[in-house]
Amino acid sequence: MANSEDLFKNIISHAKEYGFIFQSSEIYDGLSAVYDYGQNGSLLKNNIREYWWKAMVQLNENITGIDAAIFMHPTTWKASGHVDAFNDPLIDNRDSKKRYRADVLIEEHVAKIEAKIEKEVEKAAKRFENFDAVLYRTTNPRVAEYQKKIDEINLRFKTALETGDLAEVKQIIVDCEIVDPVSGTRNWTDVRQFNLMFSTQMGSVTEDANVIYLRPETAQGIFVNFLNVQKTGRMKIPFGIAQTGKAFRNEIVARQFIFRMREFEQMEMQYFVKPGTEMEWYNRWKEKRMNWHRTLGIPAEKYRFHDHLKLAHYANAACDIEFEFPFGFKELEGIHSRTDFDLKNHEKFSGKKLQYFDTDDNQNYIPYVVETSIGLDRMFLAVLSHSYKEEKFASANPSSGGLSDGSKRVVLQIPPFLAPIKVGVFPLVAKDGLPEKAHEIFNTLRYEQQCFYEEKDTIGRRYRRQDAIGTPYCITIDHQTLQDNTVTLRDRDTMQQERINVSEVSRVVNEKVDVRQWLKRL
Ligand code: ATP
Repeated sequence: MANSEDLFKNIISHAKEYGFIFQSSEIYDGLSAVYDYGQNGSLLKNNIREYWWKAMVQLNENITGIDAAIFMHPTTWKASGHVDAFNDPLIDNRDSKKRYRADVLIEEHVAKIEAKIEKEVEKAAKRFENFDAVLYRTTNPRVAEYQKKIDEINLRFKTALETGDLAEVKQIIVDCEIVDPVSGTRNWTDVRQFNLMFSTQMGSVTEDANVIYLRPETAQGIFVNFLNVQKTGRMKIPFGIAQTGKAFRNEIVARQFIFRMREFEQMEMQYFVKPGTEMEWYNRWKEKRMNWHRTLGIPAEKYRFHDHLKLAHYANAACDIEFEFPFGFKELEGIHSRTDFDLKNHEKFSGKKLQYFDTDDNQNYIPYVVETSIGLDRMFLAVLSHSYKEEKFASANPSSGGLSDGSKRVVLQIPPFLAPIKVGVFPLVAKDGLPEKAHEIFNTLRYEQQCFYEEKDTIGRRYRRQDAIGTPYCITIDHQTLQDNTVTLRDRDTMQQERINVSEVSRVVNEKVDVRQWLKRL
């Protein structure tokens, strides 16, 4: 297996080669950090979105969904704090002329020290029998020294951010002797704040008053509709409003493929609760969301919680669900206790009451909010990178469709219900009446599942192409089919084939790819 850097490169080229993800406007050399989803990518993306929607909206009677516009009244973003505070601290290296997020440079430096600790622990674990990792972490002087360094940096950084002391942020970079990965020098500029919102003009006259923003998060469309939904849906607290949709951020450092994009899609849910109960709900939603991830069958150790050191301007508690991408553990989803910050400010800026009348204890209040916010594109990358397997075969495998000694296949082991195509339908050869029979089956199945028909090329190559896009099942129509009305059903992961009757095909396939199996585990 390739090392993780090569592996990531292979995944990126695989995503392009098989119609999952293309660079935006590629014929013009692309647009930085903007991507298009191709024929298979858009299907996979839709399936992930639908799985989230079913889990959040369909399965929770007190959660309902909306679809708000991308453009909003500009005062929305004043009230939400995004005009004044949606900034990233940026720093330039004078030699490489590259721009970085100061907070990311510091976090990466801390992660390197953390990695050193892990190495020490691993080394010691190999040396001692009955090794107690917890004891070792607390007593080993070298580890203690590293930990002290981490705590010092974190504390300085947190204080600097809280007080808006950008000179101190730069000083931390200087004191940690952080070098530019490109130029290798420490020739840094001062740290400056940079607002991440894209703006444009509405109407035909170019005036400041007409400036509107492309939403940097979908959440505000939910907040401004809070009372509309509560009243028309007759919702009682606690209740949630869910939404999926595009968001836009002028990211300073846009890299790592679809991990950090300037146009991306969020799947967010705001849960409105009685003030004082928010921590209970925050903890419950942490657990529920982690459970959603785990039902996909991705091993638990690929996920971890990470509590926020730096709380956003609206939060009183926040954590990330991190996923182990090929480039390391990174944020996949955020769970935030947003207090009443947003609704209170919208009340203030709009002059309209945004309160809930609680009939249980006869009082009006502004609800508190617990938010779950996941990037659809990041989830796509998590599924894609985890499913991508390069397999090498040591010996000839009769059911592998022609794979022999030393041959390889790339397979996407996507959970079947998420796969872009559910069934490939193939006549063994394009003659003797087999294509006609195959079409007949295809034309029945396509009403139930996304299917794919192909008759060109050897059957082995056709299987390989379906493996590469993660199609869980292939059906082959051969000469025997014409005699006894049976076909072979081939399983993507085991490559085993079984013969089943044509009348059974749709039931067997539907059962295997049925999303309900996964939803029931939630
Ligand atoms: P990061 O620290 O990685 O910039 P964030 O903490 O700013 O992310 P949130 O504002 O909490 O992110 O957004 C919620 C979710 O939206 C994130 O967990 C992530 O999955 C997704 N997301 C945020 N920014 C981007 C982006 N530029 N490209 C793709 N997905 C994104």
